[in-house]
Amino acid sequence: MSIQIYNTLTNKKEEFIPIRKGEVSFYLCGPTVYDYFHIGNARAWVVFDVIRRYLEYRGYDVKYVVNLTDVDDKIINRANELCVHPNEVASKYTEAYFEDCRRLKIKDATCNPKATEHIKEMQDLISLLLEKGYAYELDGDIYFEINGFSEYGKLSGKRIDDLIAGYRVEPDQRKRNLLDFALWKKVKEGEVCWDSPWGKGRPGWHIECSAMSMKYLGKEFDVHAGAEDLIFPHHENEIAQSRCATGGVFAHYWIHIGFLRIGKEKMSKSLGNIYTAREILDEFSPESIRLFFMQKHYKSPIEFSIDVLANAENAVQRLKRCYFKLKELLERYNIEDNLNYNKNTDIIKNFRKEIIDIMDDDFNSAVSVAKIFDLVKVVNEKMESEYSVSKEMHVLKDAKDIFDEINKFFDIIPMTYEKSENTEKLLEILLNIRDELRERKEYALADKIRGEIEKLGYIIEDGALRTRWMKR
Ligand SMILES: [Zn+2]
Repeated sequence: MSIQIYNTLTNKKEEFIPIRKGEVSFYLCGPTVYDYFHIGNARAWVVFDVIRRYLEYRGYDVKYVVNLTDVDDKIINRANELCVHPNEVASKYTEAYFEDCRRLKIKDATCNPKATEHIKEMQDLISLLLEKGYAYELDGDIYFEINGFSEYGKLSGKRIDDLIAGYRVEPDQRKRNLLDFALWKKVKEGEVCWDSPWGKGRPGWHIECSAMSMKYLGKEFDVHAGAEDLIFPHHENEIAQSRCATGGVFAHYWIHIGFLRIGKEKMSKSLGNIYTAREILDEFSPESIRLFFMQKHYKSPIEFSIDVLANAENAVQRLKRCYFKLKELLERYNIEDNLNYNKNTDIIKNFRKEIIDIMDDDFNSAVSVAKIFDLVKVVNEKMESEYSVSKEMHVLKDAKDIFDEINKFFDIIPMTYEKSENTEKLLEILLNIRDELRERKEYALADKIRGEIEKLGYIIEDGALRTRWMKR
């Protein structure tokens, strides 16, 4: 089966056919770097990380571009509040963004273009729009005229009249249409600005994503992604200005993720219910956060709570225990020597096929992850039974391979096993106590401790200075 993607632009699920065979050009609207990102933003970064890595797992070479908006009203306001230069705010939170993404196990993008380093590309695009008559100047500001683009509103599925009726901002009567948006903003007192053919100023937000996506991916590329609230006006405007400037199609598939709510409420500063990703990462493993996001289809809204996350953490631990037990068993057993193995491993192989089919169908991680836990159950049962362990080693080997494969994109199984480190520490503590008992000549109790530890598969050697232990 080929990969199907729900395309916001056509409002239906479509077969994914990339422009160049075997390659995917992918643009994600990245962060505005004025604060630490919150758990709602984290959903977007993680979901698209999984989609990108899944496409790679399916054999595509993915060029993954995530921009950084480092000039914006929010950054300027934040800088004014803190009485620092906007660059200082932007560089601090850019660094924090990368740090938190790595903690969430998000794979580095192919590139992260910064808006402030692409002013020239934005100005070129604006010049082109002016030349072609799609934009106009108003006292140092440049506006895009939406009347010039007949498909305006297609992405959001809205009619221009309805959009005007819903317009909530104080209308600027000089504009030709209320919905015309700024491509270039004339400098205001004390703001960061750049020289331009239209005087000093700074770019509008929408133009930056058009300029950067097309610079790195071309006039036409495969996927443009972002959160649902970017559909209008941000992505609608990106389509309008890009298509008018180049005459090309711009992005072929538009993927949008649903909202994250805190319990039943929207996350907002006034409700005081904003959790930053780093706060959550201090309490929970990255795998549990990733699993929590994967347990819902990316388009559905998701309700966040500490309890739900705690459940996800338990599920991750269940997965981890199963995986490491399996790994240990396989290491202990030499499969090639075992001639009596059962070659009928279809039960497990079906899991792989099912997981892939489900993911191919618009990246349905929710159902896919449920399948993985069904597999855990089957594997645990097999590991309980001595018959299965000895006769079905190849089945177990297949299961481990599936876990390794799904982890390439979901990344929900922690690959280090701290539990054994703790076990070693506990062993040292016990042996130190035993040494003390021996010094006190309480041999009966010392021997009892030794006996119990040996039962767990360790060898204890009493040296002249200290007691050593090793695994049998
Ligand atoms: Zn954008």
